[in-house]
Amino acid sequence: MSTDTTNTGAPRARYRAMHARHLDQVLADRAGFDEAERRRSAAVAAVFPFRTNQYVVDELIDWSAVPEDPMYRLVFPQPGMLSPADLERMEQLIAEGADDTRVRMAANEIRWRLNPHPSGQTDENAPALDGVTLPGLQHKYAETMLVFPKQGQTCHAYCAYCFRWPQFIGEPELKIATDDVAAMTAYLAAHPEITSVLITGGDALIMNTAVLRRYIEPLLSIDSVESVRLGTKALSYWPYRVLSDPDSDDLLRLFAQVVTAGKQLALMAHYSHPVELSTDASRQAVARVNSTGAVIRAQAPLIRGVNDNAMAWAQMWRDLTRLSVVPYYMFVERDTGPQGYFAVPLARCWEIFRDAYAEVSGLARTVRGPVMSAHPGKVCVDGVTEIAGEKVFALRMLQARNPDLVGRPFFANYDPDAIWLTDLKPALGQATLLPGMEVS
Ligand SMILES: *Cc1c(COP(=O)(O)O)cnc(C)c1O
Repeated sequence: MSTDTTNTGAPRARYRAMHARHLDQVLADRAGFDEAERRRSAAVAAVFPFRTNQYVVDELIDWSAVPEDPMYRLVFPQPGMLSPADLERMEQLIAEGADDTRVRMAANEIRWRLNPHPSGQTDENAPALDGVTLPGLQHKYAETMLVFPKQGQTCHAYCAYCFRWPQFIGEPELKIATDDVAAMTAYLAAHPEITSVLITGGDALIMNTAVLRRYIEPLLSIDSVESVRLGTKALSYWPYRVLSDPDSDDLLRLFAQVVTAGKQLALMAHYSHPVELSTDASRQAVARVNSTGAVIRAQAPLIRGVNDNAMAWAQMWRDLTRLSVVPYYMFVERDTGPQGYFAVPLARCWEIFRDAYAEVSGLARTVRGPVMSAHPGKVCVDGVTEIAGEKVFALRMLQARNPDLVGRPFFANYDPDAIWLTDLKPALGQATLLPGMEVS
């Protein structure tokens, strides 16, 4: 951990990002990887974004357990994220010392095959005002609008499976972002049905407080906005963001200001594994946010090799509940990027959810899942059951493009290998999964 001792004499952690160019050194020093192993990691990092920091490396990863360690698998490139053919091709280019252009062209060819923007992300969710499309905003569900601030499109560390990975590869045509605060407020004024604004990315807390304030303050005078949400993994990957960064105190004042304005400030915190709550800094960070009147809600996808066991979830939900953080969603890994490597079948997701849910008190059962954030909306796998001798998945829409579908139960044929909504077939002699729902 890099610290300095200016001013007060108390150690203060300073953020230092680690990129692909640091990968070789870290893997040699910390993991003891040989050259071939390091080249495989570099090959994957040439296709998918890699970024971490000293806190993750020193405090969250147990290097004696690498490569099985869950936090290592969450953050560092894994050879299995590429198909054997793609891995070999990228390794070959690196071994040859190919120039950046050739590496980038090969990487892009692979990326375009990996469904970079699933669920109609770039086109179907983009709103328009007076016939002009507003990039960097998404309005998929009537009551919620997403804002992707231009300055917020990175994170303190990247998750290997990240479903927003195209935001981070430096290809502008794949990026969703805006810095047009006036367009955001004009759209909200024209759409009083929007009660919740979710600032996301990337990570909303990667922005310094002055920039974040430019997006948040105009929302405070819009009466129809009831809540401001900030999508973030900072509490896990860089808890010092709310403890001791140069503008941490100002950030907490901004949170309190939202609460004073009569709106909920919700930190939609991404917590993947209980080890993220094991450090003093992580727990102090939660306490500090709570002291402002903001609410922290916890969500994460279920990822193979990271958190695909009920014990990890039960422990995490308990630890969160102790800290007054509200468990919110357990997601299913999305149909993009290295999904083939990280996905857990829906049937198994549900077993893990159920087993963990059974272990926690009612206070933690605010969590819903496993949830697919799919093209028609958020689909919850309520369970596996039998109806009239037929084994089926029971499902329900928690959110929908078409508001008529919210809360509607439906059934699909049981399939132990299904990993996404598009794998499911109607059950019980029905023609469609749910009338009015367009799956793809
Ligand atoms: C999850 C999500 C939301 C928020 O949905 P809630 O159920 O209100 O948490 C909004 N927009 C998109 C695109 C989402 O995926």
